[in-house]
Amino acid sequence: MAKLKVLVAGGGIGGITSVLALRKRGIEVQLFEQAAAFGMVGAGIQVSSNAAKILLKLGLGQALKEVATYPDGRDYRGWDTAERLYYTPLGQKAEAHFGSPYYAAHRAELLDVLLSGLGQHGFKLGSRIERVDQDDNGVSLTLTDGSKHHGDILIGGDGIHSTVRAQLFGKELPRFTGNVAWRGLVPAERVAHLNLGNLVNVWMGPNRSIVSYYVSAGKIYNWIGISRTKTEPARESWLAEGKIEDALAEYHGWNPIIRTIISETPRVLKQALYDREPLPEWQVNRIVLLGDAAHPMLPFYAQGGAQSIEDAYVLAGCIADGQDKPIEALARFVKLRLPRTAWMQGLARREEELYQTNDEAAIKARNERMRSNRIPETATFPPEQERLYGYNAEVELKKSA
Ligand SMILES: Cc1cc2nc3c(=O)[nH]c(=O)nc-3n(C[C@H](O)[C@H](O)[C@H](O)COP(=O)(O)OP(=O)(O)OC[C@H]3O[C@@H](n4cnc5c(N)ncnc54)[C@H](O)[C@@H]3O)c2cc1C
Repeated sequence: MAKLKVLVAGGGIGGITSVLALRKRGIEVQLFEQAAAFGMVGAGIQVSSNAAKILLKLGLGQALKEVATYPDGRDYRGWDTAERLYYTPLGQKAEAHFGSPYYAAHRAELLDVLLSGLGQHGFKLGSRIERVDQDDNGVSLTLTDGSKHHGDILIGGDGIHSTVRAQLFGKELPRFTGNVAWRGLVPAERVAHLNLGNLVNVWMGPNRSIVSYYVSAGKIYNWIGISRTKTEPARESWLAEGKIEDALAEYHGWNPIIRTIISETPRVLKQALYDREPLPEWQVNRIVLLGDAAHPMLPFYAQGGAQSIEDAYVLAGCIADGQDKPIEALARFVKLRLPRTAWMQGLARREEELYQTNDEAAIKARNERMRSNRIPETATFPPEQERLYGYNAEVELKKSA
């Protein structure tokens, strides 16, 4: 059997995990990242059980455990009184139920965990891909420095503004979702008196919400506020330093816990949020998309990164199984992954409405409905969490073999 070489565009969560998963299956792979160094925005990220299951398989379990936190549960709370409205278990209950832990981490630390598996070779930094080409025999990518690199398959893991996607399917811009994210990291000692618990706290209010949890082995408290806005930002994407006063103004009238967390934040970042309608196709012959390049989604289910990790693992399995038929291997991957991620994209949009509705009757109905599942000892996993966190990439691969 001829030995395949895979090229990966983009060194984000999806791109790096692709390299790790392909190498594990003995496939040669080379990654190209435009930045001069691997990096991730300073903020928290939930690593849900479905994603953690894969990172464990890739041998990163211990490294992840050392830096991450292991929340006991998720509390859904009211924006004004801070009342617990709903509770879903995490911690040992989730680990036993889904077969893998649910973590929360600082993004830089998650990146370090991934890079610990990557080592010092197999990637080129400072390598911006300008174009990709293919014929019956293989693929090539051209960097902005003019150099050309050849392989058998190309994976476009180059994020929401993907060059590969634009070239394959046209330059249609992502959709501004009408939401802006505020992100802050607070030294844990500054919020210790708030007794926030070892929980993922979801605070739901009209037109805005906040999700907050400990990261960095409990040393830092992370919060992500999302608020609706009528003004679309001038540029398609931006990630800028925000002002604490503006964040406080955004959460004016909210309970003192939230206002204290924001006031104690040394620095906030502000980011416009985009997504897309599910794409009908991710593949053109030997080139395929994954992660945000294929299915960007709102962060309400904390799943964009997790879905990139699932993609990477399933794709590596398909490529390894179909080395003599690369086009069919990529088609199998798309068939396995597109329906799940399209479902997720829709779910994340619906969750935006659930968390941030401004309609008084809808808020009352939501709260009444939620109150039925708020006792930690008896709380159950809702059906969408069963489907999300219970996903087992290995089983899905076997089923489709
Ligand atoms: C506020 C917020 C909170 C979130 N919270 C969570 C969470 O808790 N859990 C979770 O799982 N997900 C979360 N996400 C989603 C998650 O961050 C993304 O889905 C994930 O980072 C996507 O990974 P990716 O590798 O597909 O793309 P990216 O992380 O965007 O990586 C793409 C890479 O490609 C590179 N690149 C781009 N163009 C080129 C080019 N032409 N040539 C070479 N390189 C290129 C970029 O520099 C980048 O390194 C959140 C997102 C937001 C906005």
